[in-house]
Amino acid sequence: MSEQPFDPAVTVLVIEDEPQIRRFLRATLASHGYKMIEAASAQEGLAQATSRLPDLVILDLGLPDMDGVDVAKRLREWSTVPILVLSVRDRENDKIAALDAGADDYLTKPFGVGELLARMRVAMRHSTQLNQEPGDPVFKTGGLQVDLARRQVLLNGGEVHLTPIEYKLLTVLIRHAERVVTHQQLLKEVWGPACTNETHYLRVYMGQLRHKLEADPARPHYLITEPGVGYRLKVE
Ligand code: CA
Repeated sequence: MSEQPFDPAVTVLVIEDEPQIRRFLRATLASHGYKMIEAASAQEGLAQATSRLPDLVILDLGLPDMDGVDVAKRLREWSTVPILVLSVRDRENDKIAALDAGADDYLTKPFGVGELLARMRVAMRHSTQLNQEPGDPVFKTGGLQVDLARRQVLLNGGEVHLTPIEYKLLTVLIRHAERVVTHQQLLKEVWGPACTNETHYLRVYMGQLRHKLEADPARPHYLITEPGVGYRLKVE
């Protein structure tokens, strides 16, 4: 086997037209040991993505030359690189479109360093897991334990009985643990492509799941609502 030169730095491609945000990201990423490549337009970003093959892409949705959602779609035509999108508040539809186009997660501007680094780690860990088979069949967070091989759900050691739909919903969230899953994605994966508009199904079944899995269903600990977008299974 030939020795590969080992470069520990993770390369992050930032596609963002606002110089202040690029400056903030440059400083933050450098101080945490990441290598950053910058692009101020969609065209430049797509070119950099093909030539430099980054480990992660941070993509602004409001770019001067192309819709960020279309950039995500173009990247997904050939790449599985984790994509973290940046959007402004109150543009839920943009975020949903980007997630449905294959982006992994989003950050709403303005965002802090802690949130940025946490989202980056989750997106990269998830992409590593996708490339490694098989995964651990037992999912654990806090008092919740789900044995995916035996289809057994335990909460604080006691078995919880879920209906087939509730169980399916939970396993989809586990597969995307820590990342937001849109209403559309959940409906498609649990009920099938014909049901992607039936968001009331989700509200009903998420309510049932919370009653079975949350100490206080009104203040959920695991099954978190991302307002207007979808749900996220929080991992401790
Ligand atoms: Ca912008």
